This record gives sequence, C-alpha cells and structure tokens, in this order.
Amino acid sequence: METSILSGIEASKALYSSLEGRISNLKNHGITPGLAAVLVGNNPASEIYVKNKTKKFEALGLKTDLFRLNEDVSEKELLSLIEKLNFDDDIHGILVQLPLPKHIDSEKVLNAIVPTKDVDGFHPENAGLLSIGKPRFIPCTPKGMMFILKHFNIDLNGKHVVVIGRSNIVGRPISILTSLKELGNATVTLCHSGTKDLKYHSKQADVLVAALGSPEFVDASFIKDGVCILDVGINRIERNGKSKIVGDVNQKSVSGKASSLTPVPKGVGPMTIAMLVENTCLLYTSPSPRDRG
Ligand code: NDP
Repeated sequence: METSILSGIEASKALYSSLEGRISNLKNHGITPGLAAVLVGNNPASEIYVKNKTKKFEALGLKTDLFRLNEDVSEKELLSLIEKLNFDDDIHGILVQLPLPKHIDSEKVLNAIVPTKDVDGFHPENAGLLSIGKPRFIPCTPKGMMFILKHFNIDLNGKHVVVIGRSNIVGRPISILTSLKELGNATVTLCHSGTKDLKYHSKQADVLVAALGSPEFVDASFIKDGVCILDVGINRIERNGKSKIVGDVNQKSVSGKASSLTPVPKGVGPMTIAMLVENTCLLYTSPSPRDRG
C-alpha cells in the first residue's frame, strides 16, 4: 500500500491564505492582532520554538512582543508581567513558552492569563468549555491536527481513533475534539503509560495519534493495515554523529502499511504555528478583563 503524506506545510498554506484576507480586513479597520510571547531562561529548544512563532507573526505583519526573562526571575515578577499584559489593549494573545524553570509553578502562571487572551487554550476555563463540548479557544496542536484531517478529507465519523498520550496540551484535547458529534463523531480510546497491552488498542485504530514523546516508539507492529497516523512527537536524537528531529513514530517501519501519515518535521508542527496565528486573530474580539468585571 502506498502511504500518502499528510503535509502540514501544504495544510498550513491553505489556512494562511484564508488568514491573510482576514488580517488585511482587520488592518483596514485599524486593528492589528498582537501576540505577547514570554520566554524564561535560555532553553535552546524553547528559543527555537519562540523564534519560529514570532517570525511567522512578523511575516504576516502582525504585532509580536517578545518578553525575555532571566532563568532566575521570581514567580512574583512573572505573574506581575502577565497581569500587565492582561490589561494591555494592544495585546490580544499571551503565550508563555513551556517548560518554565523548576522554581516557578507553571500551572499558577498559565492560570493567571486572562481566559480571553489564552492563545494556547490551556486555561481551565477554556479546557472546561472544550470538555463540555463547547470549545472556545482550542489548544493549537490538536486544533491543527483537526485541520489536517479536514484538509486531506479524512472523515472521522464512526471511525475508531486511538490516542497514545493524555497530556492537557495534545492527547486529552484531541481525544475530546475527535469525539465531539459536530467535529469528529469518532469512537475514541485514550491510552497512557498505565495502559495494559498498548498494541492491542493501537491495532484497533482507524486513526492513530502518537503523542507520547518517545522517539520512533510506534512501529509497524503497533498498527493495522490502512491506518491514518498523526505523528505529533518532536524528539531530538543523535544518529550517525548528527543531531536529527524524529517523531514518536518509526516512519520507515510504518510506510507501506499505513494509508497516510503526517511527516516529522513538516507535519503537525507547522500547523501548530498556523493555529497560533488563527487563535490570535480570533482573540482580538474578546472582551478586555476590564469589561469582564
Ligand atoms: P507529555 O510528556 O506531557 O505527555 C506524554 C503522554 O504520553 C503522557 O500521558 C504519558 O502517560 C504518555 N506516555 C509516555 N510514555 C508512554 C508509553 N510508553 N506508552 C503509553 N503512553 C505513554 O508530552 P506532550 O503531550 O507535551 O508531548 C508529546 C510529544 O509531542 C512530544 O514529543 C512533544 O515534543 C510533542 N509536541 C509536539 C508539538 C507540535 O507542535 N508538533 C506540540 C506539543 C508537543 P502518563 O500520563 O501516564 O504519564
């Protein structure tokens, strides 16, 4: 079987072309959607993620403010920056790049972002709305995955989706999104490190989501013929003396057995950034904390 490649670059181009029209419309009305990106410390991977995100915003003529804080910044200082950004009318979305240093309570910081500027959709208010089937701001990675499926005409209705990984930023939200009647209407199994006989479950999948953060973990022995695979993993490994990015799926092993597959890189990653832009454009209409009382 030939495995078709679900290119995130191709899908993101389709989204950007619709966003460009919306952005120029907003600009004609004097509105420039603005993102504040907060980067704490010098984690090289975080530096790259933030650079890629802000580069795209600049290319689209959007406002982006990068706040770089030292590794030893106190939790109090970080929280007071978030509070300031919450009330800044030129900032529509606030992104705090994870992971944060160990002395800072990440949950406390993410919860301090006013839900109407929660561009990542991590705030409990937005996570709660998603879990009751009324999504408002959806985390960018699962939202991007849903876009890829739609772009490549992969219908989820009545299909069995198996998700490996239950994090709040990928696994859990994609399991909810695919199960929602209006969006996916799939039957969903959510697996994690406590799952017994993972291969039994993964082999049932019509659509398999690999989001566990383990390089090339899923190989041909985990899948049935014809499965569609979304490989979310971004893992840096050393191979033949060179540093390389690989997913959570052994792409060589599953090729020829899977019907379709998102590549790594150029799969889910570019869609995550595209959805960050879309969420920022959506957020500009949200009420300011002043109006929320
Ligand atoms: P987390 O570490 O937060 O969560 C991993 C999940 O996988 C956990 O639920 C864990 O189970 C489960 N898990 C780990 N090992 C196994 C195993 N052997 N069998 C079954 N389940 C397992 O990771 P994230 O969700 O943040 O990220 C997952 C991957 O996706 C990473 O490679 C990350 O870099 C990548 N990523 C990519 C993005 C993109 O834009 N493409 C965006 C975000 C993440 P338990 O809950 O029991 O611990």
